[in-house]
Amino acid sequence: MLVKELGEFGLIEKLRKLVGRSPGSVVRGIGDDCAVLESNSKEYLLFTTDALVQGIHFDLRYFPFYFVGWKGMVANISDVAAMGGTPQGAIITLGLPGNAKVEQVEDIYRGAKAASKSYDCPIIGGDIVKSPNRLFLSLALVGKVKKRDLKLRSGAKPGDILAVTGDLGGSEAGMRLLRRRKKIGLKELNTLSRKAPYSSHLRPRARLEESKALIDNFAISSMIDLSDGLASDIHRIKEESGVGAEIFETSLPIAASTRKAAEKLGLSPLKLALFGGEDYELLFTIPQRELKKIQNKRLDFPVSIIGKILPEKMGILLVDASYRRNQLAPKGYAHF
Ligand SMILES: [Mg+2]
Repeated sequence: MLVKELGEFGLIEKLRKLVGRSPGSVVRGIGDDCAVLESNSKEYLLFTTDALVQGIHFDLRYFPFYFVGWKGMVANISDVAAMGGTPQGAIITLGLPGNAKVEQVEDIYRGAKAASKSYDCPIIGGDIVKSPNRLFLSLALVGKVKKRDLKLRSGAKPGDILAVTGDLGGSEAGMRLLRRRKKIGLKELNTLSRKAPYSSHLRPRARLEESKALIDNFAISSMIDLSDGLASDIHRIKEESGVGAEIFETSLPIAASTRKAAEKLGLSPLKLALFGGEDYELLFTIPQRELKKIQNKRLDFPVSIIGKILPEKMGILLVDASYRRNQLAPKGYAHF
């Protein structure tokens, strides 16, 4: 059977069965944003990895090496944020084709170093291997989390409120705008990287501070970072928590810059918000009793209530403006 016939979800399920049950020192194995290991009486150790492959996750025509390094770090740090933790150190493995230049590798490291400084996560080692024709970057990151702060994908209960930080679809919109252009100079890309929605794609942020503020203020029952897109990632909460959910189309936060980009691209802003990947916002659930608190609390970042957790048999429903409910398929960035 081909991997593309099975799909990423199916493959992970197969491998999870093959790996089997973990020993007691493993608090959480396959199935969350990070693996969770016993560390000491107060903290757990977090461990995660993520790879970026040229031509799949980035296109060098509009995605320079500096941003490859930045994004590799952010994607991993975001997974630590989703668990409620703080990053401790990163290991970078580079796969380089024969014609790679030293300056290009330095640029990747400059980007990684900038993220390392921003999020206080030192680069502590790595490996360099030869790759047949495409460049790839694989990062592994360790973090720690106070035991009482650990957030999993598996804690959502029917009746819980579904909420998300920031806004959705920006990264996909930015990428599609960049993709329409043939070649963009480095200088212009640098300027664009500070302007929405390009910034969401080129220079995404990990929501470490947001994660901390949410955990400090509310009883979060489950949390995940949005890397593959809302439609896809909500299914991960569904699988791990054994719940369904309804998502209100009209409540999805979409930035004006994303709407404008959608118009330019002839795309639906709703589809960008549902299926666009790499926004790295936090999707989380809180018990109903926390609703008033979260509505009234002043935070340094936007939080939107976008739906409700339902019993598992309901599946994942998308509710439109006329209250029609449709099943939402786990589509998103197709990796295979
Ligand atoms: Mg994740």
